[in-house]
Amino acid sequence: MASSTSKPRLENKVAIVTGGAQGIGECIVRSFVKHGAKVVIVDIKDDLGELICQDLGAEFVSFVHCDVTLESDVENAINTTITRYGQLDIMVNNAGIGDERKLSILDNDTAAFERVISVNLIGVFLGTKHAARVMIPKCSGSIITTASVSSITGGVASHAYTSSKHGVVGLAKNVAAELGKYQIRVNCISPYVIPTPLAMKFFNMDENSSVYSNLNGKTLGPQDVANAALFLASDESEYMSGHNLVIDGGFSVL
Ligand code: NAD
Repeated sequence: MASSTSKPRLENKVAIVTGGAQGIGECIVRSFVKHGAKVVIVDIKDDLGELICQDLGAEFVSFVHCDVTLESDVENAINTTITRYGQLDIMVNNAGIGDERKLSILDNDTAAFERVISVNLIGVFLGTKHAARVMIPKCSGSIITTASVSSITGGVASHAYTSSKHGVVGLAKNVAAELGKYQIRVNCISPYVIPTPLAMKFFNMDENSSVYSNLNGKTLGPQDVANAALFLASDESEYMSGHNLVIDGGFSVL
């Protein structure tokens, strides 16, 4: 399903998008397919994932149930992708959860803190590890993590969420240094607030909310993140690794 107006930027590439069943991940899936990639949606929301497959066509996109906090699930998702398509070129670690309880550091408990860390940081560690395992023999690959503007600021979200997002940027930089010799690039994308189910719960907003418009007067949308993912996934960014691409309309420079 190539774009009618321009050359597909991900022709002959195979991608996994975790958390691809809705929100930002769904938009990344749709953009990648539009630009010629075969995409595997990895998520715990089977119904939503399967609906996207029906909509876009089984020849372009398929679904694998996977909880990114479970190493066996992540390993299975990667192995299933290799069995189906013979390769994995792009790994998008996008699955994430918020922490809408917004508790003070004094009131939070270890189990709740660990829950956020386990999806947002351990999930990215597992996705990166198992993607690298199959990319290293090919000496090629792009690993992209959806971090957040909370990876570079303090108080936008809960402390667990902020910790997890700072963590994934450190992970990406470290692994970018390790995997550079295999021509594997590891980058992050850090968006500001986008009215997806995750953000609407956390900020008590709806999809028409404009409270969180950015410095440039426009409201950020999932397509802005998908455009960045497309760039980092494609060979256009072949000299970029260990980078955290912030998409916040200038919010973080205020
Ligand atoms: P969303 O809630 O719309 O989508 C998240 C997806 O992740 C869902 O499909 C969900 O089922 C999946 N998921 C959650 N836990 C999972 C698990 N254990 N295993 C597999 N899949 C799981 O949220 P979104 O806003 O699209 O978030 C996508 C990413 O973008 C997250 O990492 C989030 O932290 C990040 N982000 C979001 C915003 C925002 O304002 N929406 C801003 C910055 C960063």
